[in-house]
Amino acid sequence: MTLPTPSVIIDVDIELNPLQQAIIDALGIPPEWEPLPSHVIESIEEQLTVALAPIAHSFSAEAPLRVNKHHIATVHGCEKFHMLQREAPFAWNINTVRGTIAHKGIELLLNWRGPVIPAEIVDAAITSVAENPRESASGFLVSLTAHEMAELRGAVLGAVTNFIECFPPIKAQWRPMVEYSASYSLFDNSVIFSSRMDLVLGGPGKKVIIDLKTGRLTPTHRDDLRFYALVESLRSRQTPRQLGSYSLDAARLESEDVTEGLLQSAVRRTAHGTLLIADLVLKTREPDVRPGAQCRWCPIAESCEVGARYLRQLSGEEDSDDN
Ligand code: SF4
Repeated sequence: MTLPTPSVIIDVDIELNPLQQAIIDALGIPPEWEPLPSHVIESIEEQLTVALAPIAHSFSAEAPLRVNKHHIATVHGCEKFHMLQREAPFAWNINTVRGTIAHKGIELLLNWRGPVIPAEIVDAAITSVAENPRESASGFLVSLTAHEMAELRGAVLGAVTNFIECFPPIKAQWRPMVEYSASYSLFDNSVIFSSRMDLVLGGPGKKVIIDLKTGRLTPTHRDDLRFYALVESLRSRQTPRQLGSYSLDAARLESEDVTEGLLQSAVRRTAHGTLLIADLVLKTREPDVRPGAQCRWCPIAESCEVGARYLRQLSGEEDSDDN
């Protein structure tokens, strides 16, 4: 396939390959589509406010309760793990930095001038992050050995090449925004919901929010996007139109329309999770311990009896209670 030239990326139609066409078909605006009425936003805002009323005076603008998609996802898993993550400084590894560099590469690609050569874009992305002191990954990148850097470059190259070849060329009139941040607060800024979306396409009231994933797609990704839709709806007072998780490895998109039911489900999950987090942060009870996939990277997996048992069962060393 001929790689699109920069002018093609910006404003010229080209013949799409089947994978690109499938994404256009999935994300296109159906003729019968209509935006959700404004009372839907008023309703979800009221639900969230009422549900969180018990913590309306528990935090302050100076020391707010901050809630993001990761907090909500982890607290619904193992609360102990959630607190460990909340208290520990974030530590980069090759896997996590791979996603950051891939996102940066795609961001550069949207404004790239000159021939689109994936390896050059990946190198530019690594340089851009490594040389930016405001990027928390910069120190980690600088510390990598030559072979680790080569490993990282190869891993990102696959993701960026897949995006160039399998995602439709993004046109300027789609108003693309990369790493788009949004936040919404309650109770005089004492509870803050924040989100940072990988890729947003479309104008106000018609936005399509896309998460770019460098691993396999899981149900948690769908919940993450619903959280984004909730925050964006409350912040902008306009609901997004559609949500999509795009696997850079598999070059596949999973999408769903934003409906009133979807937003209500996001409100319930977010409100419940926020109350759980508030409990734990305020130390009104001990965190519950619930084994799951997260045990594999939990820092106390060896000393946690429940988690260690779960991992032994997972590896077949021990029978589960069901057997
Ligand atoms: S090992 Fe598993 S169950 Fe134990 S604290 Fe960690 S995540 Fe929770």
